[in-house]
Amino acid sequence: MASILVLWDVDYTLVDANGAGRRLYQLAFADLYGTELPAAAEQANMAGRTDRAIAIDVLALAGIPDPRAEVSRFEAALTRLAPEVAHLVADHGTALPGAREALAALAATTGPMTAGPMTTGPMITGPAATTDPAAAGGLAARQSVLTGNIRALAEAKLAPLGLTGYLDLEIGAYGNEHEIRSELVHLARARAAAADGTDFGGRSTVLIGDTPLDVAAALATGARAIGVATGMFTAGQLAEAGADVVLPDLTDTERLLAALAGD
Ligand SMILES: [Mg+2]
Repeated sequence: MASILVLWDVDYTLVDANGAGRRLYQLAFADLYGTELPAAAEQANMAGRTDRAIAIDVLALAGIPDPRAEVSRFEAALTRLAPEVAHLVADHGTALPGAREALAALAATTGPMTAGPMTTGPMITGPAATTDPAAAGGLAARQSVLTGNIRALAEAKLAPLGLTGYLDLEIGAYGNEHEIRSELVHLARARAAAADGTDFGGRSTVLIGDTPLDVAAALATGARAIGVATGMFTAGQLAEAGADVVLPDLTDTERLLAALAGD
């Protein structure tokens, strides 16, 4: 049985968090500096980038002297305040079409799922409900996230939508751990290897994401990349970036499993 490590991007791959990230930056800035985040700082590019990189840009755009010296303090505020934006996700955020079924189908390849947050989600219908390891091409997938979000923000985006129960967040890699996304791949691989005693080197690690930066992180580390065109980038752009497979969205669980079972 082929063991693979599947590392999901969060924003616009699994969820649309309804601006929860942007709101958290505003809350953290106001908390630390006692003033509103200047509008200019909200123009910082967030797509596919890590919170470490975004935070440095936001602080610089806001006119904070020596942003690099401030970034740890800012990240601590982001972590502390992240639970306050979970309600934005609960009220107006959405799991993207097929995301829950895809996570469930992959979780099913490694045995029975534990009781957890997923049991409060909608009933799973469609192909995912019948997925077994044979249907998944003999695949055994361990899955986590590789995200630009700090962990607390990733959880604030995933938990209200009932998605954390499918994921082993302990082996994930998060956006406060490095400015450069590809460096996060090494961290997640090492954590998964330590937890599992399995080597997830080379193409046994698969990144799934919606931006060319997700694809680039995979390519830079010898991993496979599956692009999902549910963010601001087209299928053509993701293919051009070098994705091994590009899907229009996650609604075709069988196709996703087939892509993961390939090499
Ligand atoms: Mg994304």
